[in-house]
Amino acid sequence: MKAIVVHEPGGVDVMNLETVDDPVADDKDVVIEVDACGVCTHDILVRDGTLKMGVRMPCILGHEIAGTVVAVGKSVTGFDPGDRVATTQRYHVCGTCRFCRGAHEPLCRQRRFLGDWGLVGGYAQFVAVEFDNVAHVPAGVDLTAASIAACTMGTILNAVRDVGRVRVGEAVLVTGAGGGLGLHSLQLANALGAYVIAQTSSPDKAALMKAMGAHEVIVHARGEDFSSQVKAFTGGEGVDVIIDNVGTPLFEPMRRSLAILGRWLLIGQLDGTFVPFNPAQLFLKGQSMLSVTSTTRDQLADVFELIERGKLEPVVDRSFALDAAREAHLEVEAGRITGRAVIRPNLVDSPTNPSRDDR
Ligand SMILES: [Zn+2]
Ligand SMILES: [Zn+2]
Repeated sequence: MKAIVVHEPGGVDVMNLETVDDPVADDKDVVIEVDACGVCTHDILVRDGTLKMGVRMPCILGHEIAGTVVAVGKSVTGFDPGDRVATTQRYHVCGTCRFCRGAHEPLCRQRRFLGDWGLVGGYAQFVAVEFDNVAHVPAGVDLTAASIAACTMGTILNAVRDVGRVRVGEAVLVTGAGGGLGLHSLQLANALGAYVIAQTSSPDKAALMKAMGAHEVIVHARGEDFSSQVKAFTGGEGVDVIIDNVGTPLFEPMRRSLAILGRWLLIGQLDGTFVPFNPAQLFLKGQSMLSVTSTTRDQLADVFELIERGKLEPVVDRSFALDAAREAHLEVEAGRITGRAVIRPNLVDSPTNPSRDDR
């Protein structure tokens, strides 16, 4: 099969289109013919070497996968060839540890992330994933949209519903609101009945953010403290919850934007920087830092129900053929993608010029 393989970290030139062995179905595997794979910031951090923990090269990038099952291992139950499926961000969890049994399988110590560890990723025509990490895609949801559901929506569902426990009427600040996780955070916070404030440095995305569920949009220059605007929208109190898709680059303005008893949900970290931090600044206000990583299979199934009911809409900007994966990364890095770009690995021989989707 054709795949994008990275042998050592670097710029987009380290992404090579290669021919590698087709995956075969081990005992617990489903082999998926990949229809679409989302391009996540995580992929860029693996490719350029910013992320080192849990990475083993050479690797095939990509953990946001949807497609059609073409083969199943002998221990697989609930999945058959021809089924339309999407993956969580992993290809292996143990299934028996306290995290797996407690519906926290993203924290399983034996987990293997897709796209980081060896030649198992979605920038490929086929991928083998153990069936614990796969969910059925309902007939009403197309596979391109389904591919990004786990990472952009499942992770946020995990954050706002299960970890952050956002309640009706609470004020929620979404940082990095124009990004993939950001736009879907707006939708979910709105669906839960929150008063939603979006933060962005991209003025051209403000209208879309409102359409996605933001009640207010704060546009500011890079490096500018936006907390006074958050306070102005919340009667001077600040927000009850921050959905933090950015991390340390916005640490101080976010800290100043948080209300007494606020919950700060750490989800994203866009660079490798650190911040000086005095814990008393948080605990004297009864504030909490909470965190989530990725998505459980149950959360992914819940996301598909919400998409089917029209409560959530996956935002896919553009599709790229497999041999245009470098261009996809360049577009994401330049901030020219709204929502998500996806790679369609079985369009390997199509023109390299990306075309805007009809949707
Ligand atoms: Zn992702
Ligand atoms: Zn486990």
